Amino acid sequence: VSYLATSAASVKRDACAACGSSLTEFLDLGSSPLADVFPADISANERSYPLTVAICASCWLAQLRDIVPDDELYGEDYEFRTGKSPALIKYFNDLAAKLLATQDNRFTVEIACNDGTLLRHFTGYRPVLGVEPSAAADNAEIRGIPVVKQLFTSALADEIVEQHGRAGTVIACNVLAHVTDPLDFLRGVCTLLADDGVAVIEFQDLARLIAGCQYDHVYHEHRFYLSITSLNRLAAKSGLRIQYWEQTEAQGGSLRVMLARGNGQLSINEPWLEDLTTYMSLQNRVEYAKNSLKILISDELADGRVVAGWGASAKSATLLNYCQLTSREIKWVEDVTPGKIGKFTPGSHIPIHAPGTSPDTFLMLAWNYAGGMIRRDRAFFDGGGRLIIPGAVPVIV
Ligand SMILES: [Zn+2]
Repeated sequence: VSYLATSAASVKRDACAACGSSLTEFLDLGSSPLADVFPADISANERSYPLTVAICASCWLAQLRDIVPDDELYGEDYEFRTGKSPALIKYFNDLAAKLLATQDNRFTVEIACNDGTLLRHFTGYRPVLGVEPSAAADNAEIRGIPVVKQLFTSALADEIVEQHGRAGTVIACNVLAHVTDPLDFLRGVCTLLADDGVAVIEFQDLARLIAGCQYDHVYHEHRFYLSITSLNRLAAKSGLRIQYWEQTEAQGGSLRVMLARGNGQLSINEPWLEDLTTYMSLQNRVEYAKNSLKILISDELADGRVVAGWGASAKSATLLNYCQLTSREIKWVEDVTPGKIGKFTPGSHIPIHAPGTSPDTFLMLAWNYAGGMIRRDRAFFDGGGRLIIPGAVPVIV
């Protein structure tokens, strides 16, 4: 996209991060700016980085080709706070209630605790410790949660065990896919766990990304795209064994996996995820989705309708940039997050407004919340409002 400056600061991965085998690229989304940095100035000239996903045909770990350094991703401009999202607050309330009801109250470590939205539920019942390298750690400390302000690695796990002992529970939601070295990360989790401890790990599900053509889940923070099949292998290499796993609806389709110390792999039967054809067919489907979406939007504009976006989520940055949508097509993006209102979407520079004015047509950028929005926003639809939902085959409802 021409309005973005390109940077040479990303590092290209040549070999699989888990097993060192060669990689096969299967998805190229062009160049995109960082998805969680919202410029305050419309003429900002953000850096952009290639967004290319590759698969290892040996251990079937899908991974980004271009790695943006952590300090660039999670620097001072990093806006994401779990506690700013009503949907995530509720999601973590439910997870905390479940864990508190089913586990002993033993030492609990949350890796990537962000602002403490989840971990605060455990304080008062259990000794807790958060690990969080970004400035969100300050928000967690204000809530009285002790935080180690570093990136989690196996070396840090050794230090934590030395100081605090091993943990009965280790929680790591939406972080395994973000790290540089997932094997080292899981080895650290193994180090932290007591012999009878349980690790709860959640990540966006590659199976549903592929099946649902959810290409907007690809952004630079997501360095790895895990399936239960690839996690099973990674876990076994790290001294961990999957005890139990389930699908959740977080992020349009996530996996919640319980792991414990142990040897050997669980028997998992997902042959389609161990077949290169599955991956190589995605690019064409993604291009079809993009072209269909652009046609739907230009038809709305040709009919004189005003189109606005709904939800300035991180994934909206990928969708808007990959589909080359700007304020020419999308007049504004509505979002409830105070830190985003008044700023602009990354790269595409569409103004972000608080809810208030309704357009003729919303483009659903946070499409995993479409069901809730349709149930809640009756007045919009009763007044003739239209909603475009992207996906493998974009539709208007
Ligand atoms: Zn591999």
